[in-house]
Amino acid sequence: MSKPKVAFFDFTSCEGCQLNKLNFENELLDLLELVDIVEFREAMDDKADAYDIAFIEGSISTPSCVERIHDIRRRSKILVALGQCAVSGGVNAIKNLHPLEWVKEEVYGEDNYLFPSIRVQAVKDVVKVDYEVRGCPMSAPEYLHLFKSLILGRKPETFDYAVCVECKLKENECVMEKGMFCLGPVTRAGCGAICPSNGQYCTGCRGVVSNVNEKGAVDMLKKHGFSTTEALKRMKMFCANEIEQ
Ligand code: SF4
Ligand code: SF4
Ligand code: SF4
Repeated sequence: MSKPKVAFFDFTSCEGCQLNKLNFENELLDLLELVDIVEFREAMDDKADAYDIAFIEGSISTPSCVERIHDIRRRSKILVALGQCAVSGGVNAIKNLHPLEWVKEEVYGEDNYLFPSIRVQAVKDVVKVDYEVRGCPMSAPEYLHLFKSLILGRKPETFDYAVCVECKLKENECVMEKGMFCLGPVTRAGCGAICPSNGQYCTGCRGVVSNVNEKGAVDMLKKHGFSTTEALKRMKMFCANEIEQ
């Protein structure tokens, strides 16, 4: 039986998600035995006509990105968005909070006409996405779980509840009690509440949970003397596209 053909593509990103993969080098090497890597710009020059699984890092921010992602989608059976840039636009989407012409002039000055730039979009805003791995950088354990599941033909686990749920299951002391502004009540779980578990506040890097318990979140903020205005301001770091919709 032939091995599944797997390809990796990067769009507008810092490439941090691809680097994060390397932290799980040993487990990844075992997985790579089971597949054929047919395209991976950072490691090889080969090209292929079709892919069983295409992993996409980065957001769509130029006309050529739009063209390229359509082309990849046409040739892929399964397409996976890796990391928050690909899933929602991530930090790149901060650009969308300002007029596009102003941003282009600020970044490229009078030569800005040489750099075609469009509103930052998530991959799913342009083509169908089958699966996503959230986080900035993406969660490597979640990525391995998804990769293994796809190879085995199983449905990977997905997460659509707040980080607070994972945090409470770990019996952590709430960092809000220590005066930290934590976005756990509105942020999508799946990271194992890694930041609060290490005494840090959640900055919302996995995006917003789809069914936010608004009353519960507002009550929690108020109880600790924080405002919703400040919460929305903080959410702009990773969730600009999500809160603008
Ligand atoms: S999600 Fe974060 S770590 Fe991953 S490519 Fe985007 S900015 Fe970099
Ligand atoms: S607000 Fe933050 S620290 Fe508190 S329970 Fe929720 S995730 Fe944990
Ligand atoms: S706790 Fe929040 S900031 Fe930390 S990894 Fe999880 S979602 Fe991201």
